[in-house]
Amino acid sequence: MSYVDEVIERVVKENPSEPEFHQAVKEVLESLRVVVEANEEAYRRDALLERLVNPERQIKFRVPWIDDKGQVHVNTGYRVQFNSAIGPYKGGLRLHPSVNLGIIKFLGFEQIFKNSLTGLSIGGGKGGSDFDPKGKSDREIMAFCQSFMTELCKYIGADTDVPAGDIGTGAREIGYMYGQYKRIRNLFEGVLTGKAISYGGSYARTEATGYGLLYITEEMLKCNGQSLQGKTVIVSGSGNVAIYAIEKAGQLGAKVVTASDSNGWVYDPEGIDVAALKEIKEVKRQRLTEYKKYRPNSEYHEGKGVWGVKADIALPCATQNELNLEDAKKLVANGVIAVAEGANMPTTADATEYLQEKGVYFIPGKAANAGGVATSALEMSQNSERLSWTFEQVDAKLKEIMVNLFHNIDAAAKKYGFDGNYVVGANIAGFEKVADAMTAQGIV
Ligand code: NDP
Repeated sequence: MSYVDEVIERVVKENPSEPEFHQAVKEVLESLRVVVEANEEAYRRDALLERLVNPERQIKFRVPWIDDKGQVHVNTGYRVQFNSAIGPYKGGLRLHPSVNLGIIKFLGFEQIFKNSLTGLSIGGGKGGSDFDPKGKSDREIMAFCQSFMTELCKYIGADTDVPAGDIGTGAREIGYMYGQYKRIRNLFEGVLTGKAISYGGSYARTEATGYGLLYITEEMLKCNGQSLQGKTVIVSGSGNVAIYAIEKAGQLGAKVVTASDSNGWVYDPEGIDVAALKEIKEVKRQRLTEYKKYRPNSEYHEGKGVWGVKADIALPCATQNELNLEDAKKLVANGVIAVAEGANMPTTADATEYLQEKGVYFIPGKAANAGGVATSALEMSQNSERLSWTFEQVDAKLKEIMVNLFHNIDAAAKKYGFDGNYVVGANIAGFEKVADAMTAQGIV
């Protein structure tokens, strides 16, 4: 049995009930097969792949908090410190009822390669809790965040592990967590990213993932003789990534006609009104059903349906496995030419394969949504030098990072004979740097 197959088999056996983690490991290792085979003897001797798929440390803890009626609740908190070969652990905190260890491990594993692809010195980690922020009062959110950080603060630090936002963790939650960290550790340091500007946040961090997604999509299209100008785009989600993807797509001349949340989706034939979306989601924290009040010509539909709308480009920006084979078939039938993942692993493995087979340009999340963590690393740099760069400076660096990233994954794919396969290209380009660093640092 090949080394790659052996390690995949071990991961499945040793991590039962973690299907998302298995999916992520399989997808990465399958596409690294050619590189691993070229170095098989040394990698086997050093157990490089076994070390890569085993987190350096995983922390699981109790998070008790009190609701507005005086009732105590207990959630589970996680932080998986996956790989620090190229820098301090870096990755978001997800607050969502679906969170479990397997989800955090899949995200942490993906994060290793994504962070490597940015070209910056950041290792891979991820964390979160099964706490559901929906419908909670501000005080309840603060109570949860303070309790969560009371435990987490023992394991993180500006040079050790720097968490950030993710699903359910936005500027408000980061603020409450930062306040509690500072209070307990008595340190004003860049321990979290996604902070507000007033206490060390970076301009353009809020926009970074969505903007970066469009910068890389535009560069990919350009290199394939196309452009975003005049294209119709379908987006899923209506959170941080989706909102700023929609905004930048509009600025680059495309028209986005959909957005969704976990209850339903909107179709706006005249193009999604970003100001209305921000008002509903960022200010009022309401559901998408409200959108029709701002745009009477739009349609609201319950359930899932974005991928059935005719378009040129699809940008899944909500959550994992939201675009399956059936959806992929609809995209192809409707003439979609490109799919770029704003979310982490939103496309199932069979759907990805189908899209690639049909010649759809496909940029995987670890490359396409790397703009968020790249800008988080820029926030860390600004915190270290105690300086603040302008929006334009950060945005220009973000664009440069995304353009370079595209060329790196394109070149890696070509080097190993997979021209145009950006999934393979991203995994190889991300892996090579981490593998070199792990080898150089000995058996740790
Ligand atoms: P938000 O919490 O801001 O938004 C998430 C959006 O996805 C919401 O519209 C939400 O709807 C929807 N959603 C969440 N879970 C589900 C579900 N199970 N089914 C259907 N819809 C769902 O998160 P972000 O925008 O920050 O993150 C979106 C994705 O992008 C995630 O995969 C995240 O890991 C990834 N990502 C985020 C980065 C960032 O900088 N924020 C960086 C890189 C990747 P509802 O409001 O109804 O829950």
